[in-house]
Order: sequence, then structure tokens, then C-alpha cells
Amino acid sequence: MFLSVFDMFKVGIGPSSSHTMGPMVAAARFLDMMRASPFHFAGLRASLHGSLAFTGVGHATDRATILGLAGFTPRDYDHERAEAVLKQIAETHMIEVEGLPPLRFDPKADMVFDYDTKLAGHANGMLLMARDAQGDVVLRETFYSVGGGFVMTEAELAAGKDTDEGAPVPYPFKSAAEMLEMAKASGKSIAAMKRANEISRGGEVNLREGSRKLWQVMNDCIDRGLTTDGILPGGLSVKRRAKGIYDALLAERGQNQRAPHTINDWMSVYAMAVNEENAAGGQVVTAPTNGAAGVMPATLRYYLDHVPGASESHIEDFLLTAAAIGGLVKFNASISGAEAGCQAEVGSAAAMSAAGLCAVMGGTPEQIENAAEIALEHHLGMTCDPVRGLVQVPCIERNGLGAIKAVSAASLALRGDGTHLVPLDACIETMRQTGADMSEKYKETSLGGLAVNVPNC
Ligand code: SF4
Repeated sequence: MFLSVFDMFKVGIGPSSSHTMGPMVAAARFLDMMRASPFHFAGLRASLHGSLAFTGVGHATDRATILGLAGFTPRDYDHERAEAVLKQIAETHMIEVEGLPPLRFDPKADMVFDYDTKLAGHANGMLLMARDAQGDVVLRETFYSVGGGFVMTEAELAAGKDTDEGAPVPYPFKSAAEMLEMAKASGKSIAAMKRANEISRGGEVNLREGSRKLWQVMNDCIDRGLTTDGILPGGLSVKRRAKGIYDALLAERGQNQRAPHTINDWMSVYAMAVNEENAAGGQVVTAPTNGAAGVMPATLRYYLDHVPGASESHIEDFLLTAAAIGGLVKFNASISGAEAGCQAEVGSAAAMSAAGLCAVMGGTPEQIENAAEIALEHHLGMTCDPVRGLVQVPCIERNGLGAIKAVSAASLALRGDGTHLVPLDACIETMRQTGADMSEKYKETSLGGLAVNVPNC
């Protein structure tokens, strides 16, 4: 099993990797299928199912799908151009995209939210259809957005195609137990094993430059969030809070009477800055999802800005270790809120961040595995119930608390020698089972929990 650090962490757009980026990626794949097809196409139609329908408006899934069908991708997304193209499609009911004839698409009639039909493969299902000049559907594909921006067709899902098809890597661990065994046998750290795997596929320069770019996007996102205020879009009137808290923290700096727990506010404010940017549709790094995109940058920024002796030279080790843990969670359970609740999103992000922090603070592989387990264990059972389907409440604060738990988990693990009762593998399997048993109401449908109990929402 190999999942690259650049699959786990992708530069993308808010507010959601599964509900915004995934549908856009699916639409791009469908365009490629159309280009490779012998049919002459004249129109398009899209329908969203399950969680994509229930929380699609709040997550801008319709907008992302239409932009994907118009040739946009998350990586080269340009907000101003996107707005202009959406306006043009709404006026002309036509989509013009490279390599295909003009395609009829009326957003009001051809973008369907189907609340009644859940597709069998995954909670986040969508159907894309292409029509001929008579209006008959001549090409159709079912896509599932399985979390973190990963997309699979019906056939790929049935074949279990999120497994790896490339050349073997030096350290192909599929479980935490295997990871620890390989670390012991090789004498290498988790980051060093993951680095060897990455280099065997993409080369050293790619890894170095890609890691630097990932951190730059994460850090820029924090800085934008810390300096931007206003009201977030979506109709909930949620006020951005990161800037105000950050300004207050800066003003308090150096004052002797500051309470020690103020450090928690620093961790929170970094995460909230990212998630406010995500909620506003800004550029973020999916880590491992957009809803949970704040935990890891906050933990890393906390390390760099607040831990004595921290060094930017350790960023790559942090990312590699976090990606190793994220790969185990994705392979053996889920990183999708629609599949397993928020334990799979913020819980996974916290486990990955705890592992990364433990690694750069000198933790052994056993301590790192322990740190990830502590962080994930104490998110078990956490539901996903975003108010009005927006990735704002509880998501923004939840990332702050996720970062605090990640730092505490790393710290606790570093106080021990790595021996502990609950193996990370058992915790991941518990998360999978808990997610499978969880009521659909609490899996990104906004049909239960906070989504129905907040007054006037
Ligand atoms: S509650 Fe958690 S899983 Fe659900 S949208 Fe928010 S961050 Fe994602």
C-alpha cells in the first residue's frame, strides 16, 4: 500500500474536499471520458445523491460540479474567472470547454439535487450524463467522492481501486504494527521509511520542493485568516474571529499575568484562521480533508513559533510522518465525514498531527504510534452535523480543539516509552466500526445533532 504525501495533502479550494473538490475532479474525469468517446455530444446533466445532495448547497457542490464541467480544476482554480464563467452559463445555458463541442446545460434544470435516491457505493454519490443532439443520454458515469478529494467510479470502487498499482516501495506497511516492525528491522524512523517510499516513486527533488510548497500554502492560509475579518458566506452570519483573537494575543504578549492556558488560544487561532479561509472558499491544503484542514497547519505553526529549538528543517519529517499515519487511517478505515462522521476527519487530522509533532520533537516510532492513537482515541464517536450544511459550525472551532488535542497527545506520548494498552490499529478499526454503526443523521447530512438543534437554523 502506497499513498503519496502529495495524494494525502493537496492544494485545493474550500469549503470541502469531498463536497467541493471531489465533484470538481469527477467532472474533469467525465470530460476526459467524453473526449475519448466516439459519440457527438450536445448537452450535460448532473445529479447529486446522499450527503452530496443533503449538504450540497452549503458546501457549494453544485457550483463546483458546474465549474468542473466547464473545465476548472481545484489546483488551478481562479475565483474571478470562475464567477464570470458561472454567470455566462446561467445566461446562455451553454458550456464551452476545450476539446468538445458547445454543450447545453441549464443550471436550474440540469443540476439536480436528488434527496431520495442514495447511490449504493458511498454516501457521496453523483451521476454525470452526456446527451446527444436529440437529448438522449449516450454516456453516463457514477462517481463517488470518498473523502479528501479522492474520487472513484462505480467500477473502481467495486474493484477496490484505491489500492496502489505502481512499482513496489521499500517499506510497504499497511498497518501500524507492520510500520513498527519495519522501523525496528531497518533502524529507520517512520519519516525516513516514508521518505524512501516517496523517493522511489517521485524522486528527492520532487519531495523536497513539493513539501516546501505544501507548507508555504498552509502557512499563507494561516496568515490570510489571521488578517482578514468580516462575515463568512452561506447565510448563517458567522463572524470571522481569528483576526480579533490574534490581535488580542499579540497585544497581550510579554505580559506577566497571562494565564498559561493562553497557549491553547494560539493553537486554536491558527486552526480557526485556516478554517475561516476554507469556509470562505479560499485556497487551502486538504489535510486530510478541507473540513479538517486547520488541525495540521496549526500544530506545525505552533511547533515552529512556540517550541524552543524548533526548526523549519523538520517540516518535511512532520509531513511525512503525518502522511504515513493518514495513509493507515484511509486504507483501514476512512477519512470521510459522510462515511464515518467527524471522528474520521478531525479525528484523523489530530492523529496525523500528533504523530508529526511527536516525530519532530524526537519521538521514537513507538511514541509516535502512541501519540497518533491517543489523539484518535479521544475523537472516537464524534459526529458530523454541520449547521445548514456549511463547513463553519462546529467545524471551525473543532479544528482548534483538534490541534490542542494533537499537541497534548504528542506531549503525553513523549512522557512515556511508547508502551501502551490500545494499539493504533485497534483504534483505527474501532473508528471504522463506530462509523459503520453511526446513524446517517450524523454523517454529513445535516439531519441531526447541532444541525437541527441550533435555534433559527
Ligand atoms: S463536522 Fe467535522 S466532518 Fe463534518 S463537515 Fe465539519 S469538520 Fe467536516
